[in-house]
Amino acid sequence: MIDDRALFSFHSIQDYHKALQDGTASCEEAVLYYLDRIRTEAHLNAYVQVYGEEALEKAKRLDQQRRNGQPTGRLHGVIIGIKDVISYKDHPLTAASNILKDFVSIYDATVVKKMLEEEAIIIGHLNCDEFAMGSTNENSAYGRVLNARNNDRVPGGSSGGSAVAVQAGLCMASLGSDTGGSVRQPADFCGIIGLKPTYGRVSRYGLIAYASSFDQVGIFGRNVADVALVLDVIAGEDEFDSTVKRGTETASANPAPTHHKYRIAYFKEALEHPGLDPEIKETLLQRLDGLRQAGHTVEAIDFELLDYIVPAYYVLTTAEASSNLARFDGVRYGYRTKTSNLDLTAFYKRTRSEGFGREVKRRILLGTFVLSAGYYDAYFTKAQQVRKLVVDRTNLIFKDFDLIILPTAPTTAFRLGEKMDDPIAMYLADIYTVYANLTGIPGISLPLFTHTNGMPFGMQAMTSRFNELYLLQFSRLMMQQ
Ligand code: GLN
Repeated sequence: MIDDRALFSFHSIQDYHKALQDGTASCEEAVLYYLDRIRTEAHLNAYVQVYGEEALEKAKRLDQQRRNGQPTGRLHGVIIGIKDVISYKDHPLTAASNILKDFVSIYDATVVKKMLEEEAIIIGHLNCDEFAMGSTNENSAYGRVLNARNNDRVPGGSSGGSAVAVQAGLCMASLGSDTGGSVRQPADFCGIIGLKPTYGRVSRYGLIAYASSFDQVGIFGRNVADVALVLDVIAGEDEFDSTVKRGTETASANPAPTHHKYRIAYFKEALEHPGLDPEIKETLLQRLDGLRQAGHTVEAIDFELLDYIVPAYYVLTTAEASSNLARFDGVRYGYRTKTSNLDLTAFYKRTRSEGFGREVKRRILLGTFVLSAGYYDAYFTKAQQVRKLVVDRTNLIFKDFDLIILPTAPTTAFRLGEKMDDPIAMYLADIYTVYANLTGIPGISLPLFTHTNGMPFGMQAMTSRFNELYLLQFSRLMMQQ
């Protein structure tokens, strides 16, 4: 007998849907294929939970409904993994932290609800840095995730599991969260597409909060059309998140206008930064030159605020995190210290000291410090002022340009452990991604290049707020070349 699993292959959601309609594939076959892949690639440590049985059951039900001629949802049978910070009712949710050990979600995140309404199959929860804090996925209670391209390297973070799941073919598309680059940077390190939508495009209801004025759910995929389709499904107003303004103008249905000439800016300071790998710099400059020759406007502009954006980001996000994470006290959720006979304050302290990992504690301390009475103005207020300057400058840039292009990260994927002893060096590597979160603009990392060290790297494109359609059209153009 032929093993059906060997015959299944995935290229795009559209092809998959066509194969389902033709009867040359089934949802059941797809689920079996992915469960098999997840088992074979278990050493990558991408998944923290796999919902195999229920995925299979749902697949059979969907196959039946389709064969009966029932109308199909937009994500009919699409197999999706979600980062372990996104609530899925009656399923475990831990933010890769011991403090949420054994916690089970009591409701669906809006993004999950919307995907399920369109008949997606959620196959599991994906590994990440604890509370989405990190750039390598090494701060996880479940241990590190390996980059499938080279197992000595990190996949990036914090959504490392979500990136590797798509990279290694362990699901069709995945969701992560991006507070300072956690979708775009791992996409860059793994050679796939990662989109951070505009702040306010996708509901954060049911996403465990890290820094609420920065957080946004993002999408990993293998091609632009898949990412656009998932965005269409998860975007849009939500009574539970008042920051969400509108859905997309059906990003998935619009092919790129072929003759459009883009006005592209890049930051001189970014490309001349001493931390940027020279090969990444040269490759990007060459590609920009190619765009210029193709008739697009490409200009280097000054962005003298560049050196302030990482400090401003870490002051503001740790401040917000110190407040958001105050709720994990051992009384209401998850882990509780085993030590008895403690008064209430000692109980909180003990629970939090035992439950949180090193990096999360570091950030709670830093955030509490920058908000403390004596230092509030020196750090928090100052960082808010920087954020305002960056937003104002960005609005001016978008008067003259449609797109900003930057590297996604200054280097290719780090070696495992390389940056763990130097948190400042790790933070500084976020230099190109935190900009989009400070300003709320959408950004995408496109897997266009391979370094001579064998690792992939991407180009990051950003546009003005709520202009994802345009960004995705440009992305299609870039991916076709
Ligand atoms: N690396 C960044 C940080 O550690 C980004 C994290 C994120 O986007 N969740 O804060």
